Amino acid sequence: MRVVVVGGGISGLVAAYRLRTALGPELELVLLERRDRVGGILHTGEMAGEPVDLGAEAFVGRRPEIPALLAELDLSEQLVHPAGRRPLIWSGGTAHPLPERTLMGIPAGPEAVAGLVDADTLERITTEPTRPLRWERGGDVTVAELVGDRFGAQVVRRSVDPLLGGVYAGRAESIGVRAALPTLAAALDAGAPNLTRAVADALPPPSTAPVFGGLRDGYRVLLDALREAAAPKVETDTAATGLTRTATGWRVDPIGAVDAVILATPAPVTATLLGAVAPAAAAVAATIELSSSAVVALGLPADTPLPDNSGILVATGESLRAKAFTLSSRKWPHFAERDVALVRASFGRFGDDTPLSWSDEDLVAAAVADLSTVTGLPIRPQTALVQRWRGGLPQYAAGHTTRIAELESAVAALPGLAIAGAYLHGVGVPACAASGTAAAQRILSR
Ligand SMILES: Cc1cc2nc3c(=O)[nH]c(=O)nc-3n(C[C@H](O)[C@H](O)[C@H](O)COP(=O)(O)OP(=O)(O)OC[C@H]3O[C@@H](n4cnc5c(N)ncnc54)[C@H](O)[C@@H]3O)c2cc1C
Repeated sequence: MRVVVVGGGISGLVAAYRLRTALGPELELVLLERRDRVGGILHTGEMAGEPVDLGAEAFVGRRPEIPALLAELDLSEQLVHPAGRRPLIWSGGTAHPLPERTLMGIPAGPEAVAGLVDADTLERITTEPTRPLRWERGGDVTVAELVGDRFGAQVVRRSVDPLLGGVYAGRAESIGVRAALPTLAAALDAGAPNLTRAVADALPPPSTAPVFGGLRDGYRVLLDALREAAAPKVETDTAATGLTRTATGWRVDPIGAVDAVILATPAPVTATLLGAVAPAAAAVAATIELSSSAVVALGLPADTPLPDNSGILVATGESLRAKAFTLSSRKWPHFAERDVALVRASFGRFGDDTPLSWSDEDLVAAAVADLSTVTGLPIRPQTALVQRWRGGLPQYAAGHTTRIAELESAVAALPGLAIAGAYLHGVGVPACAASGTAAAQRILSR
């Protein structure tokens, strides 16, 4: 059997690994990757001789996929957890603690956002349960529509946007409730009479388990192990340019005939490749928009007195150019031991990718100036790395889950074809890994 996986990000690598594990050495497996390296948005650089992730740097700890993969690949000793410090929100020119017990920044009562929003907004949240809520069961709206209407714009701009900016490089206007907050949609579908009640119903029970996990030596350890275990023929610098059906299987340009194909490419590329074989599915994939971001990793003197917080998220509308800072040396115990203090600054939100056109020098200068503003410290980097992620994150717009169901059912009608990737069932690394596993299972079930 000859199978090609198109796209060497985590989704494609996990799919390749699952195929190899199931089919053994007989499988002829090709991994096509447009860039000169595999990993996609997982990319580990080096600073002062130590690994530093320049794309994703963590994963949601309560999902099982990454710890399970690490265990399978004998890498469990790589698993690390944050020190437990909390982030700040920069709003109105000052730093506030990140509200506790919210659902993606949506509070279940006024006390969670006291100090972050004004008195009128607190009153509006307090009285929200007295106002009738209109929610169409099974329907969807943007997070901005729902939260703005019930709790007001300040909650959207100061509490919700900073978190959506972190996950999707998005904003409350570009993200739908049902895909981003499925438990909230479920609570509303179940008849919660107001948003306050729906959030309370949707919040997970309090837990002391770490929210995030990471890899001590960066994601490259996982990428290398997956690639070695999957043992595909890796064709880097090679973009798939066409997909057609043949009498017995598929043809992928430029590599030729194969029995099965997994497309683990970003949504617009998947749309183009599906164009000739599944036009309806292609049309759906083409509607998914992307946001772009840039990451600047700053190496500061180890004794820089950074705030005792894991990061600083910036509210929408502030005069800063950065949208967030991860204070890696405070967030992760293993970074605290290093000779440089590491801070990652992030730029770019959906609809505004201008920072990506700035020079490296300008991005570093903006990161330094903004970090100095939010910490009140003179910031003197000893070293810096810049990484741009153009179109790095799909936006889960209102109606996303319905569109993805249509897309997947159209692809399911085509034997020997499967799709995986960040635009399907979650942008996080665990969800992408799960999508790779599901795509491989689909091919294997043939
Ligand atoms: C800055 C940033 C920070 C993030 N931080 C986190 C985090 O901390 N935790 C977390 O869980 N998630 C995070 N994410 C999200 C997560 O990293 C991504 O959603 C995930 O890595 C995407 O994996 P993927 O394999 O689906 O897609 P990609 O990594 O985009 O891989 C797709 C691959 O397909 C290749 N390709 C494209 N076209 C073709 C073609 N025609 N032929 C062949 N190959 C092609 C691309 O070059 C790419 O390598 C972050 C994302 C960004 C942008």
